[in-house]
Amino acid sequence: MIQFMKKMFNDRYEILDKIGDGGMAFVYKARCTILNRIVAIKVLRPEFSNDEEFLLKFKNEALASAGLTHPNIVNIYDVGQDEEINYIVMEYVDGMNLKDLIKKKGALDYSYALDIMKQIAMALNQAHKNGIVHRDIKPHNILISEDNVAKVADFGIAKATTSSTITVVGNVIGSVHYFSPEQARGGYIDKTSDLYSLGIVLYEMLTGKVPFRGDTPVNIALKHINEYIDFEKDIPDNIPKDIKGLLYKLTQKKQSDRYQSAYELINDIEYIENNVELDFEQEYDNYHTQKLNSLNEELKANIPKQLKEEGVNTNMRKKSKKKNSSKKKMTILGVLLALVMSLSIAYLIYSIKDLFIVQNYEMPDFENNTLEDATTRLEAIGVDVRIRKELYDSSVEKNHIINQTPSAGSPIKKGQTVKFDVSKGGEPVTVPNLVRKTLESVENILKESDLKEGVIDYEFSSLPEGTIISQKPRAFTEVEQGTGIDFIVSKGEEVKLVKVPNIVGKTLEDARVLLVELGIGKIKYEEDKDKKEGVILRQSLKGGQHVEEGKKIDLTVNEYEEEEEVVEEPSKKIIEKQISFELPQEDETVEVVIKEKEKNTSNTIYNKTINIKELGSMISVPIEGYEGQTKEYEIYVNDVFYGKTTAEFK
Ligand code: ATP
Ligand code: MG
Repeated sequence: MIQFMKKMFNDRYEILDKIGDGGMAFVYKARCTILNRIVAIKVLRPEFSNDEEFLLKFKNEALASAGLTHPNIVNIYDVGQDEEINYIVMEYVDGMNLKDLIKKKGALDYSYALDIMKQIAMALNQAHKNGIVHRDIKPHNILISEDNVAKVADFGIAKATTSSTITVVGNVIGSVHYFSPEQARGGYIDKTSDLYSLGIVLYEMLTGKVPFRGDTPVNIALKHINEYIDFEKDIPDNIPKDIKGLLYKLTQKKQSDRYQSAYELINDIEYIENNVELDFEQEYDNYHTQKLNSLNEELKANIPKQLKEEGVNTNMRKKSKKKNSSKKKMTILGVLLALVMSLSIAYLIYSIKDLFIVQNYEMPDFENNTLEDATTRLEAIGVDVRIRKELYDSSVEKNHIINQTPSAGSPIKKGQTVKFDVSKGGEPVTVPNLVRKTLESVENILKESDLKEGVIDYEFSSLPEGTIISQKPRAFTEVEQGTGIDFIVSKGEEVKLVKVPNIVGKTLEDARVLLVELGIGKIKYEEDKDKKEGVILRQSLKGGQHVEEGKKIDLTVNEYEEEEEVVEEPSKKIIEKQISFELPQEDETVEVVIKEKEKNTSNTIYNKTINIKELGSMISVPIEGYEGQTKEYEIYVNDVFYGKTTAEFK
């Protein structure tokens, strides 16, 4: 064997011991020399290594299941090839497979079996959610560690071993004991197929043997399709009714009659663990009637030709036919008798119906309704309501019904008790702290805690723009899963705009009152003899515009210069003169302004409206200056510059 010749794969995995062998592979304990850890290595049997198509499927499936991480799933670490050898590296489980455990101990204690079931159901739930159906659930693929943790191995690998490999490889046929009817007849396989196989595993745990045995694989496959578990004979009396119910529901022939998901199964296991009575009664009693059903012709028609040729089902059909014909006459007689009797009973009931009649109702669909509403409606017709379990469920509002028994549409009558699972809302979670976190990070933080964003508000704050200022409910309080957390996001520092008042012409005192929302910046003084002293001449910010509150505004204030010359040079002689000029005669009256200019100052010395008609067009204006002074005069007529003149005072 190639496997034994090598001690090291790809210079990385050092083979230590052989652990076991299965239909398509050998399993070794090995050491990964890079990560220095113990691993299990599954090496394909050489006959598979040469089958290209199988190899590709094997690798793909191994890789697909490598994505699954769950405490109850054997982790796949690596898929590799060393020359001719193809191998999968996986988590090493120090313990024993469930098949060997059952072989060693016989039937297991039912509560232990239930615990193993729950762990496997959890693994399946995880795989099914990821779209992976195991297809080969059997005790050999369930590894039980020393501390009783169940781990499911070989996820998806079975997909590579399609029906062709069943007949080709002797050992793989072992799986047929756990095949679902649809697997046995080559039908459509889905997650409920894994649940069927798990049902067979449960049967084996409870009884120490598999339910359907036979001398050929075909024989066994047919039994999965056609035969029923005899609960009264095969299952020990000490097994609680609810566990039998569980087994019953798992091993239904029709996929739609089984648990529809591993999650449903986990729920029921938890009910049993919590000593909650399950409602299998109705279905469980039914199995007798179903057991009497003859072989389903349709299923038989679907059985692969290859299986039929083995002849087993033909024999069976013959047997059942024979039985039928020998009883034929008796049956006709019986049916006639039953007919006469039931007609008489019906007539009797009809004639006294008012005395005994119990009104039948149809169970409404109460899912997602309030418990209160359901109770009111049911009590009104004399039906009792019992809360079976209160569960956390974020998808159903608090005090609303998650599910009901019996289901909607089933008959119910007065005096009957119906049961509800009621939501306690989402599971309690601790609110994380959002304050000082950025808005972008909030989504992830909330998601990790199973919470949602609530109402988002924006406010000005000294915290940087986009950070959370406050939240409701507060951090570290307990709330329901899925609760919306409201929070306020900082818009950064507040910028308040104020309107700049127009203060030109106002006194500085008034300006101080008007400018409370702005600040007064630099004050300059200038002289404008045309304006009153002390008034504002100019403002640096234009009136009417909006600026940020607190902004500084510079002002220019009118201040008359002291005429120092007068004080300083009192001895200087004042000389009087006149400026004379002719006014334009277009209008009756003209406005005349004369400005005296000396150095940088400008004073209006004359401002009058003159009636030309009365006073004539020639005008003389008195001017004065110190001896030796030279002054310039500008003349404005009707606000238009008219001319200028210079006067020397001598
Ligand atoms: P089949 O080939 O039909 O799946 P099988 O499951 O018995 O049958 P393998 O999957 O090859 O065959 O496994 C052989 C045995 O090796 C298992 O029954 C189990 O006891 C052991 N084994 C498999 N994987 C591991 C593991 N990861 N850790 C420890 N032991 C393992
Ligand atoms: Mg296996």
